[in-house]
Amino acid sequence: MDNPLLNNTHSLPAFSAIKPGHIEPAIDSILADLRSSLEKILDQDSCATWSGLVEPLDSMHDRLSRAWSPVQHMNAVVNSDALREAYNACLPKLSAYWSELGQNQRLYQAFKSLAEGPEFSLLDTAQQRVIENALRDFKLSGVALPPEQQKRYREIAERLSKLTSEFEEHVLDSSNAWSKLITESSQLDGIPDTALAVAKQAAEQKDLSGWLLTLEFPCYIAVMTYASNRQLREELYRAFSTRASDQGPHDSRYDNTKIMEEILQLRHEQAQLLGFDNYADYSLQTKMAESPQHVLDFLNDLAERALPMAQKELAELTAFAKDHLGLSELKAWDVTYASEKLRTHLFDISQQQIKQYFPFDKVIAGLFAVVERLYGLSITQQDDVDTWHPDVQFFQIRDADNQLRGEFYLDLYARPKKRGGAWMDECVVRRRVADSIQTPVAYLTCNFTPPADGQPSLLTHDEVTTLFHEFGHGLHHMLTRIDYSAVSGINGVEWDAVELPSQFMENWCWEKQALALFSAHHQTGEPLPERLLQKMLKAKNFQSGMQLVRQLEFALFDMRLHAEYDPQQGARIEQILQQVRDQVSVIEVPDFNRFQHSFSHIFAGGYAAGYYSYKWAEVLSSDAFSLFEETGIFNPETGQHFLQSILEKGGSQKALDLFVSFRGREPDIEALLRHSGITADTRAA
Ligand SMILES: [Zn+2]
Repeated sequence: MDNPLLNNTHSLPAFSAIKPGHIEPAIDSILADLRSSLEKILDQDSCATWSGLVEPLDSMHDRLSRAWSPVQHMNAVVNSDALREAYNACLPKLSAYWSELGQNQRLYQAFKSLAEGPEFSLLDTAQQRVIENALRDFKLSGVALPPEQQKRYREIAERLSKLTSEFEEHVLDSSNAWSKLITESSQLDGIPDTALAVAKQAAEQKDLSGWLLTLEFPCYIAVMTYASNRQLREELYRAFSTRASDQGPHDSRYDNTKIMEEILQLRHEQAQLLGFDNYADYSLQTKMAESPQHVLDFLNDLAERALPMAQKELAELTAFAKDHLGLSELKAWDVTYASEKLRTHLFDISQQQIKQYFPFDKVIAGLFAVVERLYGLSITQQDDVDTWHPDVQFFQIRDADNQLRGEFYLDLYARPKKRGGAWMDECVVRRRVADSIQTPVAYLTCNFTPPADGQPSLLTHDEVTTLFHEFGHGLHHMLTRIDYSAVSGINGVEWDAVELPSQFMENWCWEKQALALFSAHHQTGEPLPERLLQKMLKAKNFQSGMQLVRQLEFALFDMRLHAEYDPQQGARIEQILQQVRDQVSVIEVPDFNRFQHSFSHIFAGGYAAGYYSYKWAEVLSSDAFSLFEETGIFNPETGQHFLQSILEKGGSQKALDLFVSFRGREPDIEALLRHSGITADTRAA
């Protein structure tokens, strides 16, 4: 059988030829090959060399990733039952392979010999970093421990993986367990028609008449933002903020209390087994921040600066709610609703009006024009490329020397069976193969409204910003000049620096000169009028103090929870959360609120002792952009400098060193404060 997943090592994936039946046999066959190749590598007498160890391993894993990447991608964007089944069948096989590799004693020893041998000092810095990162990851996966502790490490890892997935299931199940049927339309006053249509459909699917409200986020947020029925807002707020907890209307079997306690206890034990004081120390091994204290100082400093502004914003909101909405006391379930009313009152901005200036084709052409000006790139569409869906477009990026630097698939419209949200993912990673270079390929995925009724797809300004953000990740992946896949593009970049190139690109969405390139009224061709831009700029930092302290509350809670775990006293989850709220929160949280019980980022996702990364990277991206503010937002020299210092370097050096080489100094928080409206913008207009 000709399996397209087994023979695509020198070309783009043949998406249209991939059938669910190809997947498991291909992965089985590749994994078997990898295991026997690994044995052969380790059996050589002198395997501890770059060309005897790192290069062949890299080729092996490139083959796996070239087969798996299109499968993983199609599972996300053109899902079907058969595809999902094949995909899920492979997951445990892949995870078993990777954990086997992380625990492979002989492989670890080979890397160690390479690091300690004479060849190491002859390698370039990127190669040395590949080896150092590999040793770090071996150490973090417990391979260096004595057998008894290694066994315990594995037990903990297995238990943790079970607990974190139970945590997530409880959040999902308790969300699904709640719904409320409304039969009187007057109860739903204020809620937009689009949200009502979804609620009506949800009712119909259960053979009910009326509107079925659920805790799915779009429904929840529509009620909280627009429903004038205060009692309804309170009811949804209560249900949502008590999910998977001991409180509220949910089934107590979904209560995450014990799971959270055990997760924190096991993480602490795991970190201590590896020789760290606590899990926060362990988590920071793969991050830019030096220590938990370093992170806490950063967050506390930001909190001190943001708090006065947040308090002022809350006072304004409270007064507005009292005077205009008759709410004498602002409760937690009034905040989003009153804020939306205040926003409209102050800025009179209609998303519908702004959208008219961002037709999809103009935005894409303008985005390409922006990076062309900044980095001297040219981007052209290729028509005859095989994809997974007719909507998908394919592009090539060439540099000023007309050299092919990268390629990408653009899949921008929402459709059934496509996962929500926006993201960039790797299809092919840049690396050296014999005497040529394997060009990187990216997937860029969004969920914008497709064109309909002869009208082009019109994007909101938020959507435009999202596109620029993901394109920033894409450029990081595609413009790299590093030839070793473990540190090329976004690979090997410290977790808390990954959002630098993406958040950086967002800045151009707020600059008049740039907007002229990607805005044009879809009927008249007129660029975004000055008066609309001024309104948007004024509204940009609406309540940014309150939003910032909320992010800081999450980040401080997460970091302290993992840094202060004490086996004698347990996790003290509520106690620490309360202390953090006393410090930074401006909105009074009701006693029944159990937000922590559904805080999946840190209990089930990859953000444990890492939630601060969002703000951390924003300091870097804001500060990097401020050099463009100083030298001109389209200054080609500054553009080249950013390209060469950051984008091309990938993970080949420490993020801090790369940043310093671009900015000429260590990161400064000033630009972030100014961009967030916390300090005044004194730049000339
Ligand atoms: Zn991002």
